[in-house]
Amino acid sequence: MAKVAVVGLGGMGSRVARRLLDAGHDLTVWNRTPAKAEALGAPLAASPADAARRSEVVITMVADPQALRAVTEGPDGVAAGADGETTVIEMSTVGPAAIERLASVLSAGLLDAPVLGSLNEAEAGKLSIFVGGEEELFERRRDLLNVLGRPIHVGATGSGAAAKLVANSTLFNVIGALGEALALAQALGLSRDAAFEVIGTTALAQQAERRRPALESGQFPPRFPLRLARKDADLIAEQGLDLRLTMAARSWLAEAGDGDQDYSAVLLRILQAATRR
Ligand code: NAP
Repeated sequence: MAKVAVVGLGGMGSRVARRLLDAGHDLTVWNRTPAKAEALGAPLAASPADAARRSEVVITMVADPQALRAVTEGPDGVAAGADGETTVIEMSTVGPAAIERLASVLSAGLLDAPVLGSLNEAEAGKLSIFVGGEEELFERRRDLLNVLGRPIHVGATGSGAAAKLVANSTLFNVIGALGEALALAQALGLSRDAAFEVIGTTALAQQAERRRPALESGQFPPRFPLRLARKDADLIAEQGLDLRLTMAARSWLAEAGDGDQDYSAVLLRILQAATRR
């Protein structure tokens, strides 16, 4: 079993850490807010650099590019504690530019390995993991990644981060399309039941069924919080491409209110907008 550190114990990182502990790995953790580490009962490092010094593999799972810089750069950062023998597995969603920057400050081996799937999938070890980096390093760390889900090697360093933006563009566009189909149905006088039955015959059938309970209860407990979805839509926008559907979905996300609710709350916003006209 490997000596592994998990840096970042938010919704996703805490679940990743729990699975690694349960699989018998020798775990060290670090989080900006140390109290979040208590429930895990794993040794707490003094800094990300200290976590890296104690481990063969360091997993980073933090909010965004700024958080990644905060935990990897400077005297207390992972880069300061990781040597050529260490592998850093970067699992946050930060886009390819942040990975390029991370690669430039590390002497350690690097796999960028962001994940698709939310809290339940993280807990159950059923994440899809998009991995960029050298094939040989990927093979060396495959068993560790298997504890967390299904790793897919998608290319050289930065490819995992790129793949994750691709995957999330589909999430945003699909939920936007579902919201607008429901809004159109509502405006044209179809009942909600009829609308769900009709959408159930289309390519959005599965998504409609999945989102229906939250829409009907009006409760959107956070799994993938809007604030993170907005960050990801911004990372896609930064690529400067003519992605009209994705930019439209991004504008709905931007308007969907409280960033701490689940991103599926965007459905409510789209329906409200259709009602007003
Ligand atoms: P989260 O619950 O908001 O946790 C964010 C983590 O980042 C916390 O450990 C937080 O520390 C840390 N952090 C934020 N700013 C920091 C800073 N300036 N310096 C140091 N640490 C900082 O987010 P999450 O849901 O775990 O998501 C983690 C990553 O996975 C994100 O990139 C997200 O986009 C991605 N992701 C999320 C989901 C999902 O469904 N939630 C699914 C796939 C991918 P504190 O505890 O001190 O605040």
